[in-house]
Amino acid sequence: MNQFLSRRTFILIPIMSILKIIFKPMQVFASSLSSKGEWNLSKEEWKSRLSKESYYILREEGTERAFSSQLNNEKRKGVFHCAGCDQPLFLSDKKFDSGTGWPSFWDSIQGSVETKVDFKLIVPRTEYHCSRCEGHQGHVFNDGPLPTGKRYCNNGLALRFVPE
Ligand SMILES: [Zn+2]
Repeated sequence: MNQFLSRRTFILIPIMSILKIIFKPMQVFASSLSSKGEWNLSKEEWKSRLSKESYYILREEGTERAFSSQLNNEKRKGVFHCAGCDQPLFLSDKKFDSGTGWPSFWDSIQGSVETKVDFKLIVPRTEYHCSRCEGHQGHVFNDGPLPTGKRYCNNGLALRFVPE
């Protein structure tokens, strides 16, 4: 019995190490797909992936017309993903009706967005973008509802809603 076991182990070890060699590069590749570097696409690559309108918002920090997005009235349960790279950004239970005409949230999924200050309207505003592909989403203000007091004012064209 012992002899049988050790013989099996003897055969298994080389098989396992071969499998490791085969699967290791695949794992590295799979994880790099979700990393930031993977989404460092050229202008042309982004243009071919996105609609003209979404490109303008996500890659040129554009703003869609107020009340133009169907997501403004979206009330179903689900997750709002980045329209650029599909990273989940907002949960439907953090969405609220701000009356501004843009989909609004009082909190984002942790780590999914990063901010920077812009001066496009002279008055400084806090721009935020997807932490993975750096696609522009909107601006965040400090006049939102509790518990955070934040108002993430998001372009609907920069989002993709996935109902639960
Ligand atoms: Zn993204």
